[in-house]
This record gives sequence, C-alpha cells and structure tokens, in this order.
Amino acid sequence: MKKVLILGGGTAGTMAANKLSKALSPADWSVTVIDVDDNHRYQPGFLFLPFGTYKPAQVTKSRRKYLSKGVSLVYGEIDKVEPADNSVLLTDGQRLTYDYLIVATGVTPRPDQTPGMDDEAEWHKSVHEFYSYEGSVALAEKLRTWTGGKLVIHITEMPIKCPVAPLEFAFLADAFFKDKGIRDAVDITYVTPLDAAFTKPIAAQAFGTTLEEKGITVVPDFMIESVDAEAKKIVAYDETEVPFDLLVTIPLNMGADCIARSGLGNDLNLVPVDKFTQQSKAHANIFALGDSNDIPASKAGSVAHFKVDIFLENFLQLIAGSDMTHKFDGHANCFIETGGGKAMLIDFNYDTEPLPGKFPYGSLGPMGLLKETHLNHFGKLAFRWVYWNMLMPGRPLPISTLMSLSGKRTDLIAAK
Ligand SMILES: Cc1cc2nc3c(=O)[nH]c(=O)nc-3n(C[C@H](O)[C@H](O)[C@H](O)COP(=O)(O)OP(=O)(O)OC[C@H]3O[C@@H](n4cnc5c(N)ncnc54)[C@H](O)[C@@H]3O)c2cc1C
Repeated sequence: MKKVLILGGGTAGTMAANKLSKALSPADWSVTVIDVDDNHRYQPGFLFLPFGTYKPAQVTKSRRKYLSKGVSLVYGEIDKVEPADNSVLLTDGQRLTYDYLIVATGVTPRPDQTPGMDDEAEWHKSVHEFYSYEGSVALAEKLRTWTGGKLVIHITEMPIKCPVAPLEFAFLADAFFKDKGIRDAVDITYVTPLDAAFTKPIAAQAFGTTLEEKGITVVPDFMIESVDAEAKKIVAYDETEVPFDLLVTIPLNMGADCIARSGLGNDLNLVPVDKFTQQSKAHANIFALGDSNDIPASKAGSVAHFKVDIFLENFLQLIAGSDMTHKFDGHANCFIETGGGKAMLIDFNYDTEPLPGKFPYGSLGPMGLLKETHLNHFGKLAFRWVYWNMLMPGRPLPISTLMSLSGKRTDLIAAK
C-alpha cells in the first residue's frame, strides 16, 4: 500500500484529497489529510463578515464532512516534516510516513512580524485585520458602533492571498458608510507598498479610477517600518507617516512555521517549487499546492483549484513512471466587489495581464471583464455555493483550467 499524506485540509488540501481518492485504487493507495481541527473556513466570507453581510456561522463547515469517505483525516498540529525518512511529526508525538507528500498548509496573517502592529493596547481596538476568522469577527463588532474618523486600509507586503480583497474592503467600506448615512464623517485612505492600486497595469488603472470616483485617497510605495499604536499612525522606512483612527491592515502573509522548522521554505515559509508542476525543487516526492508555494501566481481559492487539476494529471503520469507533461499557466480568476450590488471580474495568467472584454464564452460573455456589473456581483455571491458544492467535492466547473484569450481585448496589449 502506497501512502499520500496531505498537510492541511483547507481549500487545496480538500480538493486534492477528494480528487486523488477518486483517481487512485483504494486497494493500492491510502490518502490521509492532517489538520488541527474540524473547522473548514470559507475565507472569501471574511470580507463580508465585517459589514454584517455574512454571519460567522455561514463561513464554517465540518472539514470531515467535505472529505470523501475514502480519505482519512488525522486531527493534530504538524510539528515538522522529515524528508530524509519520508515522515511527518505531529506536536503530540505521532509520526506518519508517506510515499508522496502534499503541502497545503496555506498562508496566515502575521501581525507579529511588524513592530507595534499587534501591540496589546490597540490590537482589535483601533488596529484590525480581516484575514483571519477571529479578526473579521472582531472587526464586525468594531464597525457596528464606529461613528467615523480616519479609516486607513493598509497592505504590509506582497504577496498576500486574494490580492484584490483589500480593494474590495475599501469599496465595500465606502458603500457601508454611505448606507449608514455617515460617509461624510469617514475619511478613507488606501495605503499600499505597490506603485499603484494593483500589480498589473491595465487593472491598476481601472481600480485606481474606481477608488478615485469613490473619494478614496491612495498612498502608494509605502514600505511600513512600524505601527505607532499610541500615536495612532503607521510609519514607513522613508519616515512617511499616515495617521489613523481605525487601521485595517493586511499583515505580512507567511507560510506555516512547520514548513520553516522542516527546512522546506524560503524567508516567507513558502515552499520553492517548479511554477508549472508545483513539484518541490528539493524533493521529487513533495508537491506544494494552494497558497503554500512560491510561484508567481495569485494566492486564491480559484487558482488553487486550477493548480490541483494540473497536479492531478501530472501525478497520475508520475506514478505510472512517465514524464509530467501538464503545465500550470498561472491562471487566476477573481471577482472584485465594488459596492452597491456590483462587482468587477478579472481573468489572467503568467503571461497575460487582466484585460477588459467578456467571460467565459467569448463575445457572448455574459460576464464583463474589468467592468462593474450586477451580474459579476451575483457571480461573487454564487462563489460560496460553488465552493462548497462544486470545488470542494471536486466536481468539474464550466471554466477551463488554462486561461483562454477568447473574449479578451488583446488589442490593448498590442497598443501598449
Ligand atoms: C479575506 C479573504 C478573502 C478571500 N477572497 C477570495 C475570493 O474571493 N476568491 C478566491 O478564490 N480566494 C479568496 N481568498 C483566498 C483563499 O481563501 C485562499 O487562497 C485559499 O483558502 C488557499 O487555500 P490553501 O488550501 O492553500 O490554504 P488554506 O485554505 O488556508 O488551508 C490551509 C490549512 O492548513 C492547516 N494548517 C496550517 N498549518 C498547520 C499545522 N501546523 N498543522 C496542521 N494544520 C495546519 C490550516 O488549519 C488550514 O486548514 C480569500 C482569502 C481571504 C483571507
């Protein structure tokens, strides 16, 4: 019996486990997932919790329930991987061995990495984040009674998971305070280490225009050095300061500490892998899926899904003794809530930046790329249903794994 061991039963680990368990013969293979508890969180919902659109109970389901019967689930905290003897040690002393290891431990917000950010006096008081379940619940409580002032939305450093989520938070905050009738009392500033609102130029321009239309000031090129919680300001290395009454920061996103303890990660605890196959550069029987690796693609659930599909095809070739011929192209597909019941949509890969146009069926659409529409907003809301009912069980989606240029305004690339 050969063993596949999957570290982490979140988005990527669950999809990989369910697809592997279906594709491999149970007489010859076992598939086991390790995670700390039974709470599988729907992280895209963390964006909506602070504004009261979702309730806490709506973002959590049983991890066990979403893993198929053929998959074993071990509850425990991973201490470290010992690649030399193909084993994984848990903090409770259990040791599990593997033939193939899949790292799917994701990334988490690390406010402890920026001086002053998680200062006890202000953490979850005037300094908040919404990238963890606890953080988004605490922010919901804060926003319920906050009467206005300087709201600063801030990104510490890239890469972060769902790189559009801070923009969405800014747009939704604008709409939230308008609905409450206190928009005039709230001064919203968007502070980013990037030189514009987003990493890719055409999308950056579209998002920059939307921020401007909503009266949100952008402070680019801000490399944070510290949070001065007492004086309520963030301070950059070049001594620029931005004052706040309420700071909503995206702390540094880092891979799991167990990856560092295993000697498998880079300085952000991300596993260096081949960007096409996600096979570890150091160990041929280790793959890192989802957010846990260092490839230059967006860290998002939709991307994790495309990556798992490519991984599965390659893995079946690998265990059959063939070369891995399938290549992940960096395909990312994300809805961006813009408030007032509208959203934008972007679809891109390693080589093609987000472009305007139609998606997914060429000139038919019906979704509009880089365009604010009600249909895109319904797409964003429908993603929760798609996540639990299609993605997690490993059902096929009507979107191709590799990015298609069909419907995209490719003339804009040529014009640049
Ligand atoms: C605010 C927000 C909004 C988002 N919006 C979207 C969106 O609209 N669309 C989209 O596609 N994506 C979105 N994402 C991103 C998406 O949720 C992640 O990219 C996705 O969950 C990554 O999957 P993963 O399996 O790599 O990691 P995760 O889903 O985070 O799973 C990692 C798992 O590993 C476990 N683990 C870690 N360390 C250990 C250890 N030492 N021992 C045991 N278990 C461990 C964790 O408990 C966890 O269950 C959003 C994320 C956030 C935070």
